Amino acid sequence: MADLSRGERDFMKRQEARRRARLRRLKRKRAMLVSAMALILLLLIWGIVSVIRAVFFKEPVDPASIVTPDWIDVQLLDPNPYSRPGTPLEKINGIVVHYTANPGTTAQQNRNYFNNLAKQNGESATSVSSHFIIGLDGEIIQCIPLSEISYASNDRNGDTVSIECCHPDSSGKFTDATYQSLVRLSAWLESQLDLRERSIIRHYDVTGKLCPLYYVENESEWNQFKEDVAAYRKENY
Ligand SMILES: [Zn+2]
Repeated sequence: MADLSRGERDFMKRQEARRRARLRRLKRKRAMLVSAMALILLLLIWGIVSVIRAVFFKEPVDPASIVTPDWIDVQLLDPNPYSRPGTPLEKINGIVVHYTANPGTTAQQNRNYFNNLAKQNGESATSVSSHFIIGLDGEIIQCIPLSEISYASNDRNGDTVSIECCHPDSSGKFTDATYQSLVRLSAWLESQLDLRERSIIRHYDVTGKLCPLYYVENESEWNQFKEDVAAYRKENY
C-alpha cells in the first residue's frame, strides 16, 4: 500500500464504499422480496383456509330464527306423539318433497288429518305429518315449526324439512298453482336455511318409495323442477 499514491488510495476507498452500499441495497431488496413472498404466502393460506371453512364448516342456520312470510298460512298442529312430537330439528340439510297419494284432497283436509292423529290410541297408531302442505290452488299451510321434526321422510326426519303436495288425480302430477308454490317455497327455504343449490330431494331418493309418484316416473320433470327452483332463487334471493 505504501507505494500507492494518495489519489489511488482515495479511489480504492470510494470503490470499497460503493461496493458496500451496493451490497446493502442488495440485502435490503432481498429482505423486501422475502417479506413480500411471505405475505403473499400468508394471504394464500388464509384464502384457502377461508374457502375450506366456508364450504365444509359452514355455521348452520338456527331454524328457530327464521321468520315466516305472510304467504304461508301457519296452522300448527297440536303437540302430540303421532304427528308433532316436538323433537328438536337443530340442523337442516335438505328439503324432501312428497305427494299426498290422496287425489283431490285439499291442503286443509290433509292438515286436519295430521292434527286428528292426536286422538288415536292403541297399538295400531299411525305416525305421519309434514312441515308444509301445498294445496291444489297453491295455498301453503305450515303444520310444524322448522325447529321441530316432522314424521315424513324416514331416516331423514332428523335433518330435513318436508313438503307434502296435493294433486288432482292418480297420476300424481301437481297443478300449475301447486307447482309454482312448491318452487317458491323451496327457493325460500333453501335461501333462509343457507342450503346449497339443489338440496331438494324426493321421498323416493330416501327410501325408494314412489313418492312423489309423477316426479319419480318422470325424471326429466323432476330435473326441470330443480332447475326452476335454482332460477327462482337466483332471481329473488
Ligand atoms: Zn312421501
